[in-house]
Amino acid sequence: MVPVRPENAYQARLLRMLRDDGPRSRVELGDAVGLSRSRLIAEVDRLVELGLVETAGPAASRGGRRSSLLRVARTVHFAGVVIGTDRLTVAVTDGELNVLAELREPADIRSGPGPVVARAGELVGKLRAELGLAQLTGVGVGLPGPVAFREGTPIASGALPGWHGFPVRDTLGAELGCPTLVDNDANVMALGEQHAGIGRTFDDFLYVKLGTAIGCGLMLRGAPHRGATSGAGDIAHLRLADDGPGCACGEAGCLEAYCGEAGLVAAALDAARSGRSPALADRLATIGTLTMADVAGAAAGGDPAVQAVVRDAARRLGQVLVGLVSFVNPGIVIIGGAPNGLGHTLLAEIRAVVYRRSAPLTTGTMPIVLSDLGERAGVVGAARLISEQAFAAE
Ligand SMILES: [Zn+2]
Repeated sequence: MVPVRPENAYQARLLRMLRDDGPRSRVELGDAVGLSRSRLIAEVDRLVELGLVETAGPAASRGGRRSSLLRVARTVHFAGVVIGTDRLTVAVTDGELNVLAELREPADIRSGPGPVVARAGELVGKLRAELGLAQLTGVGVGLPGPVAFREGTPIASGALPGWHGFPVRDTLGAELGCPTLVDNDANVMALGEQHAGIGRTFDDFLYVKLGTAIGCGLMLRGAPHRGATSGAGDIAHLRLADDGPGCACGEAGCLEAYCGEAGLVAAALDAARSGRSPALADRLATIGTLTMADVAGAAAGGDPAVQAVVRDAARRLGQVLVGLVSFVNPGIVIIGGAPNGLGHTLLAEIRAVVYRRSAPLTTGTMPIVLSDLGERAGVVGAARLISEQAFAAE
């Protein structure tokens, strides 16, 4: 089935406005797009004929003839897929990117791209069947590592072992029979923040993704900035110290080696073994290892050695952000994916470093906040990624 797309830039703008702001009257759309009444009616009629827009019911009257509201057609549906290092999340949305159904299950990306991508396709198919949909308008996918955006394939990285060059976009697109796009998960989450989170009111912002693998989505003038080879925002392996802790990439002293979950756990293990944290030493003796939850619990419980580990990690991320914000001058910095229970400790320290060390011009009015979307940012952003293509003129 050939996907239906808007025929010109006006139609594309009208569709995106209905996606972002919900149902609108013809008058409101005309005011916003700056089209003459007759031209607007012609473009809207065409969108209705194409099956992309429909009437949603009567609008509040402005006096005179009652006009009706328009909205994205109820036949438009997107799927968002987020492949994480240890779980798979899929959702199906309507044309305004409201999540209609969602599934989440454990997955191990180390089992390779074949089984994981096939399972993602099955889960989307399951949701599509549950919702009684014959066809999806498109599917967006986020991967936890660098992605060659034009090719729709992951690039060799420690985060995605064995995935280099696997045709994720083409495999899933063929399986589901609809247009598909694949991007790095930090970019996808930034798109989610732009659609449904605090990023909504900012044209320029940074989204920093913490967790197992660290990344940064860079939104410039309302669109993701991917760079010449889709590598923009790949901050995980910036080297902060020559003699720092070992990193999964084989180097030492990378940002991720301090701030990634494995790095935080390793530093906490060190605190346990050296006796600086008696509580974690006990825990280690009892269960033989430490997890991120142990680290977060100890920090929340006031363990000074573990709090020092967390603050040190946050300070190092803060130092990186000092450079990024002075270079990019974002309107806001959004931090997502912080380990449960550590968000506010991390945030306080990051803010302290960035506000102390940055020029007042760049940070005077720039908030640094925790994401309030949580995991939803990924699937909504993946749906937005493909909707940008579906709602663009050919
Ligand atoms: Zn590294």
